[in-house]
Amino acid sequence: MSTPEQRVTELRNQITQYSYEYYVLGNPSVSDAQFDAFVNELRTLEQQYPDLRSPDSPTMRIVDGFDNQFEKVRHPRPMLSLANAFDAPGVLAWRDRVYKILETTAVTWTAEPKIDGLALALTYQNGLLVRAATRGDGEIGEDVTLNVRTIQDVPHQLRHHVEWPIPTTIEVRGEVYMRSDEFAALNQRLVEQGDKPHANPRNAAAGSLRQKDSRITASRPLRFFAYAVGYVEGIPFDSQWQTLQVLRAFGFATNDDARHFTEFTDLLAYANTWMARRDDLAYEVDGIVFKVDSITQQDQLGVAGRDPRWALAYKFPARETTSVLRAITVAVGRTGVITPAAEIDPVQLSGVTVRNASLHNADLIEKLDLRIGDTVVLKRAGDVIPYIIGPLKEKRTGVEMPWQMPTHCPACNTPLERADGEVAWRCPNFGICPAQLVRRIEYAVSREALDIVGLGEKQAQLFVEKGLIGDVADIFDLQPSHFADMDGFGEKKVANLMQSIADAKQQPVARVLMSLGIRFVGTVVAQLLMNHFGSLARLAEASVAEMSAIDGIGPAKAQSVVDFFAHPAHRALIDKLATRGVNVAGGGSPAPTSQALANQVFVVTGTIAGYSREEAEAMITRHGGKVTGSVSKKSTYVVAGSDPGTSKIQKANELAVPIIDFATLMTMIGDDHAGDVIVPTPAAKNDADAQPATDTPIIQQSSMF
Ligand code: NAD
Repeated sequence: MSTPEQRVTELRNQITQYSYEYYVLGNPSVSDAQFDAFVNELRTLEQQYPDLRSPDSPTMRIVDGFDNQFEKVRHPRPMLSLANAFDAPGVLAWRDRVYKILETTAVTWTAEPKIDGLALALTYQNGLLVRAATRGDGEIGEDVTLNVRTIQDVPHQLRHHVEWPIPTTIEVRGEVYMRSDEFAALNQRLVEQGDKPHANPRNAAAGSLRQKDSRITASRPLRFFAYAVGYVEGIPFDSQWQTLQVLRAFGFATNDDARHFTEFTDLLAYANTWMARRDDLAYEVDGIVFKVDSITQQDQLGVAGRDPRWALAYKFPARETTSVLRAITVAVGRTGVITPAAEIDPVQLSGVTVRNASLHNADLIEKLDLRIGDTVVLKRAGDVIPYIIGPLKEKRTGVEMPWQMPTHCPACNTPLERADGEVAWRCPNFGICPAQLVRRIEYAVSREALDIVGLGEKQAQLFVEKGLIGDVADIFDLQPSHFADMDGFGEKKVANLMQSIADAKQQPVARVLMSLGIRFVGTVVAQLLMNHFGSLARLAEASVAEMSAIDGIGPAKAQSVVDFFAHPAHRALIDKLATRGVNVAGGGSPAPTSQALANQVFVVTGTIAGYSREEAEAMITRHGGKVTGSVSKKSTYVVAGSDPGTSKIQKANELAVPIIDFATLMTMIGDDHAGDVIVPTPAAKNDADAQPATDTPIIQQSSMF
């Protein structure tokens, strides 16, 4: 039996280690419920034994951690955490404490879904985004500005609003997150590339934000909801509800499901409704955040340890359960990666019956020491297939059997291989393995590649089985007669599919390259390669050195392309596509043009995330607009990216020329820009007259965290 002192030390060390694994490595080794139980145990001990309290305890500060690749920045106001309640009595105890401290029950409230992502602080000066920082340890965060600029929901410039003047300085806080479906697709892509998948959407968002290369961040489906103001100069906010309205007016996405309540009982009803409907949300929510609405009352309530007393996270029950692992099966992916999956006894988990769970790769099974017959802990995140956290070893009876990775491909019986340093086993029979072929066809026709609507998994499977499709080019030989004996393929559907296949021939060559399914060659890499080489034939001749010289193409990607074209059959595939009229020689359908910007004169200033200056300007001229270098009375708009030229902004303000951000420009162009260059390129050079942001004194602070 350990003494309370020993236990407190043990818990602190454990919590610090788990936090590091969770926040920095993105690789938690215990479930959130287990983690929360350790924190609660520590908190209880510290209450029982006040002598053991310490300002260094994880109950007093956020143990988030850093990974040293980003600059550190001090938050002007600490970014705090949230106190938790797990049931109605816990929530009512919080309410009563609020009433007691305020000495009144005249309180109104807000309730907002608690999105499971990570907190960000965005600083705007004169309406322009100058800094984005992570929470870090609450006092000091990491400067992730470049990466955050690639997130579509984050305005580079605040919108003008009649009622609310743009403040000189405002720090907006909110949550970066990933939608559940986009998280699942990202993980699938990572597994297919032989990379490690993320444990949950929150880790995926954190990992994507912490990339050294902003282009990788840009290719990740990150989103942002704003929910608070850290500090502001010039706007006297008086409530949380008003803050949300103003943030929305400034152009931020705020949560449509947030509500303002005057009766406390309505808060609980709201939380219970969302608890029951949490699967209806497109993103992962781990609870509801209740806040005292009035900022004056928030200030009166203050902070306890690391949690503001005026806010509470009402946590939903963990989506964890246990079941018995009956078998492990393997599936073959597009690039031959073998992915094991668990078959478990059917079990109810947050409203659905679960029979299968992801296991990702053989190493994970070994690391978890999973055995057939084990009782396992399962967790489900959003729409995502549940995954196995680990076995309950204490439940073993001795009959559990270790699992062996098959030595041969289950679809074509080719011996499996594993490259040095990789976690994934692969079927190397790239050309012929029917399972890979079906996956490749599905991938080739997907929205990012050839975008052929109406050709799904079932049809791909059937065509491969019938021998009608042996490679991507065969898609273009499909005839209406091939669908004659297929269910659900009426005349109209077939005609639409034929049209979609015909249209796909005109896709830009980068999409055609992507459709070949070369390992590591996704949207971004395909576009970089085609920007440089222009045609598939030219790419097929390129060396690793030539490709690696392109910014954004590393040796592994280059080698993968060289390996692909080393097969004579793959070179022949380019000719085969060409003879079917598919665009393999560059350009693709000409970039769409319109007259959407006719008679308008634009000045572009600052860095536009994902575009070079030339690309951004070309986009305007392609749509009928005119671009000039300086702001004058004739300018219709100034398009400002990040770090815009101060003199241009001043001049625009003097002449009352509206300043818009790039996203607004895109909206003005409308859908016509769909095929325009969308590949992030290294940041365009800033204007020579751009000035670094200076530290301006804080005139008014709100007490938001
Ligand atoms: P938290 O996630 O419980 O709550 C604070 C955060 O909520 C804020 O920082 C903010 O990012 C977020 N939030 C979302 N919507 C919000 C809104 N509308 N208003 C205000 N805030 C909102 O606290 P935390 O300190 O970030 O993390 C603790 C969580 O992480 C716990 O659930 C814990 O289980 C988990 N964790 C797990 C491990 C592990 O090893 N499994 C380790 C560390 C932490």
